[in-house]
Parts: sequence; structure tokens; C-alpha cells
Amino acid sequence: MKRIAILGATGSIGKSTLDLVERNPERFEVTAVTAATNVQALADVVRRTSATLAVVADESRYSDLCQLLAGTNCRVAAGEDALVEAAAGDADLVIAAIVGCAGLRPVMGAVEAGKTIGLANKEALVTAGGLMTAAAAASGATILPVDSEHNAIFQCLAGGRREDVARLILTASGGPFRAASAETIGAATPAQAVAHPNWSMGAKISVDSATMMNKGLELIEAHYLFGLPSEHIDILVHPQSVVHSMVEFVDGSVLAQLGTADMRIPIAYALAWPERIETPAQRLDLAAVGRLEFEVPDLERFPALRLAREALEAGGAVPIALNAANEVAVASFLAGEISFPEIAHVVHEALISAEYDAPRTISDVLEIDRVTRDRALAMMTTSCS
Ligand code: NAD
Ligand code: MG
Repeated sequence: MKRIAILGATGSIGKSTLDLVERNPERFEVTAVTAATNVQALADVVRRTSATLAVVADESRYSDLCQLLAGTNCRVAAGEDALVEAAAGDADLVIAAIVGCAGLRPVMGAVEAGKTIGLANKEALVTAGGLMTAAAAASGATILPVDSEHNAIFQCLAGGRREDVARLILTASGGPFRAASAETIGAATPAQAVAHPNWSMGAKISVDSATMMNKGLELIEAHYLFGLPSEHIDILVHPQSVVHSMVEFVDGSVLAQLGTADMRIPIAYALAWPERIETPAQRLDLAAVGRLEFEVPDLERFPALRLAREALEAGGAVPIALNAANEVAVASFLAGEISFPEIAHVVHEALISAEYDAPRTISDVLEIDRVTRDRALAMMTTSCS
């Protein structure tokens, strides 16, 4: 029995994880689950599993969760320290599926406790990749990428030695505006931006896919996961989302991982690693797909991608500022407060004013994150009034 903690159990990745766990009751047991605020959904998850710890991040929802779980043998806790406790507890595998920098301390808790972590929460690596990989080396923690591109690369790397890798090729669907004109993109509404052509995901990552910031964050994520510099990580738009990413080796061989666009495939890989389990994902029918297309990303219409590469190459605190400004800008866009192109504009401004020392601790990261958010919010308030 593998004991699983699911951080962000009520979200898109969390639900897909639960689906796989429920299909394999002889292999997996859920020990801890967490959510941001939705105590009803969290309590439902607890009743479907054998979880003995349920944590709600929002402390004001603690008593509601206690009431909902009265009579069960599940302990209830609230707040950030309790999230860290859930991450560092007695699970064999932690699925890190909180969205945003809010997942950073819990992920670091799991890393410092030497856990095996199925990492979906890319923002944690973007903001603290260096600190996290160093902490994992010290504690013996294993990070298994759940993000489909990184999971694909992880699988391809099994086909050769790390020192023989020449290049990583991250594929990108291009999002809902891949073929749209600059004018159409300029007028994009939240409903249009979250309507991803291939993947069903949470709202924040869906907007990130529309701006292509998602691929930018994934570029930084790939750098920290696999240790290659920016110039050895390429991005290729591939509208069919069949090739999930590729690795080129020094001899010119390119290995790719393919499959249908169903996150249960990479999640199952992390759950069962180093074994594999069956999934209900639709099988890939290449004859039905017919053709696979690839194109170079357009950095004019999708400036977020360029900003993310600049942030990676600048290093230090810059990726933290990139992520923080993006998080607040995406939230404002979803709330109807700023336009779609303003998301990249807010991020650009944040990078220009990111004059912070490189972080040495997680507290430094969180402080840079906080200051950048405050500045970005102030900037949006000023420019909107
Ligand atoms: P989601 O919005 O559907 O779910 C997010 C989860 O995190 C929820 O359980 C929510 O309660 C919790 N959460 C949100 N804010 C929190 C906070 N402040 N404190 C504690 N918990 C909080 O998001 P998602 O689409 O499942 O994405 C989760 C992560 O996985 C993101 O980092 C995303 O980039 C990554 N990811 C998602 C997909 C996908 O297909 N959905 C694919 C690749 C990577
Ligand atoms: Mg991805």
C-alpha cells in the first residue's frame, strides 16, 4: 500500500489523482488532503477516502470543516503550518497540486522531510528552484514531475545518460489564441481565455496557457528539474498536444513521449513510479489524428514567453517577481479588472523594478513575492483609476 497525501485535493489535478486512487484501492491509500477554502468539497473527499488529516488553508473555515467532519476519524486543521504538516507527514508520496506560490512552503516541507513528491505545482519550482533542488539533494527527496511536458522529458531521459543530453524540446499547444490576430487577443475575455482547446484545467493555468506564460513557467521549471541552461531548452508549438515533449541526445537521436491529452497519464506515472498502472485515458489513435504539426512560437503576440526566458536568464530574484506579478495580474484579469494584454504588461513592469538580492532562504522568496504583489497591485490600481 502506498500512502498518498494530496495537497490541493479539490482542484483539477487533485480530482484526477483521486480518480486514479479510487480505481486502484489495493495499491493506494489517501492519508491527508488539503484545500484552500471549499470545506464542503474537502469533506466530500474525506468521506470518499481513508484520510486521517484534512487541512483547510483558510483558518476562518476551520469550524465549518470540523462540523462537516464530526463523527469521522479524520483530524481537522487549518492554516499554512498545517499544510506543511500534511506535506511532511507520514505519506510515502505527496501529490503537490496547490496552484501558485501558495504551495511553496508545503512543497518545501515535503522536500525537507525527504519525501517522494509528485510535483504539479510548477510555481514552487519557478520561485525557489535552486533552494528546492539543494534541499532535495540534502534530504534525499525525489521530485517526480507531474506537469505533462516534464513528465514526458523524465520518461525520455530513461532512454539515455543525463550527460549525453543535448537539448530539451518543450511542446506547447499554443492555447486558445494560437492563430488569433493581435486585435482579437487584445479584446480577449476571461471566458475565451479559459477555454483551452485540448486540456481541461484550473482557471489560473488556463489563462497562463492563453498568454503562453504557462510555457514560460515550464521553461524555468525544466531548467531546475533537469539542470540545463536556457539556451539548451527550446519551445515548439504543437497544436495537437500529442507529443508531450522531447529530448535530443548528442548523437542527434530525439526521443519523444506521446499520448492523448489526459493528465491522468502523467499523474499515474508519478503515483506508480517506478512501476506503471493502467489508466482510463483514451488510447492514442495516430491514424485518427492524421497529422502532427509544429511551429515556432510568436514572441510578438505572446510576449509572456519572452519575459519568462529573460527572467530565467537573469536568475536570482527575477523569476520570483515574474511569477508574483503574473499571479496577481491573472487574478485581476479573471475578475474583469484588467485586459488580457495588460497581464504581460504588469509582468514586464515588475521585471524592470525587480532589484532584489538573490534569495538565500524561503523567507526571502516569500518576501520578494509579497513586495512584488503589492507593487503590481498598486500599479494596476493606479493605471485603472
Ligand atoms: P485548481 O485551481 O483546479 O486547483 C488548485 C488547488 O489548490 C485546489 O485544491 C485549491 O483549493 C488549492 N489552493 C488554491 N489556492 C490555495 C491556497 N492559497 N492555499 C492552499 N491551497 C490552495 O488548479 P489545477 O489546475 O489543479 O493546478 C494545480 C497546479 O498544477 C498548478 O500549479 C498548475 O500549474 C499545475 N498543473 C495543472 C495541470 C492541469 O491539467 N490542471 C497541468 C499541469 C500542471
Ligand atoms: Mg504543462
